[in-house]
Amino acid sequence: MSGSVLGTTKILGVIGFPVSHSLSPIMHNAAIAAMGLDYVYVPLPIAVNDLPAAIAGLKAIQSVQGFNLTIPHKVEVISLLDEVLPIAKSVGAVNTVKRIGDRWVGTNTDVAGFLEPLKQLNYDWTERPAVVLGSGGAAKAVVAACLKLGCPVIHVVGRDPKKMKKFHGVMTSQLQDYNLRVHPWTSIPHLLEVAGIIINATPIGMSNDPNTPISEVEMELLPSHAIAYDLIYTPRPTKFLQIAAARGLKAINGLEMLINQGAIGLEWWLEQPVPIEIMRQAL
Ligand code: NAP
Repeated sequence: MSGSVLGTTKILGVIGFPVSHSLSPIMHNAAIAAMGLDYVYVPLPIAVNDLPAAIAGLKAIQSVQGFNLTIPHKVEVISLLDEVLPIAKSVGAVNTVKRIGDRWVGTNTDVAGFLEPLKQLNYDWTERPAVVLGSGGAAKAVVAACLKLGCPVIHVVGRDPKKMKKFHGVMTSQLQDYNLRVHPWTSIPHLLEVAGIIINATPIGMSNDPNTPISEVEMELLPSHAIAYDLIYTPRPTKFLQIAAARGLKAINGLEMLINQGAIGLEWWLEQPVPIEIMRQAL
């Protein structure tokens, strides 16, 4: 928010349930204030069953220019939009919606947000198999991102064989990716030996959870050039990243993905560059 809310103020927001934990209002309002724009970004708690009414209602409020979506709405919102961009279709989830004329257009900035800290490394990704832990919503964006990077094979590890089979079916049809393989959790040691990047897309280690998806002993199996990427941003670093760093690996925490997916979305809404460093400092 740039200062006062006026009669002319345009509205952005984040739809979730619950949404009170979201850091998006902090980082977006910090950027809006720094840019001196007549916008405000607000939390919008909307229960699952109320989503259709909310999306239609927000369209009727003409000052609402766009919104983010977080758990549990990223998939369900798709059928309520006027257009979904190809990247969001390929992931099967929308996290950012923009008013274009009288239409709601949805995209997915999680993929680009995840990629941003990796692109800066200038690695040859065709030499780096990816190991993704978890098969939920975030894992889908990570798989699409690893495909974009050019990883030669993407191994996804999960604990529920039925869900893994479904994940494989959905992702291979959406991404037309034949180098996607799914594995049970017990395969982790074998996969670590070949991993060029390992990504934790589970909540293991989040907040007060003292666990790590990979033990210290298993971490030793990774090649010394491997990257450890945790999507979790609280705590920072997680135990997973602590033991990766102690092993001498490059460690990336989820805050960069959070900041970058937000900045890419804000740029799309405002159609101008946004101060990403201000967003980073605000968090
Ligand atoms: P989700 O849809 O609920 O998926 C969670 C996945 O983790 C599922 O595959 C689940 O397996 C698996 N899992 C949960 N507990 C597990 C355990 N104890 N052992 C093995 N697997 C387990 O959640 P999500 O939206 O994908 O989010 C995943 C993580 O990424 C969360 O920590 C979230 O905060 C983080 N995230 C970060 C960003 C960012 O910008 N940095 C963005 C999105 C998400 P089952 O299906 O078998 O339960």
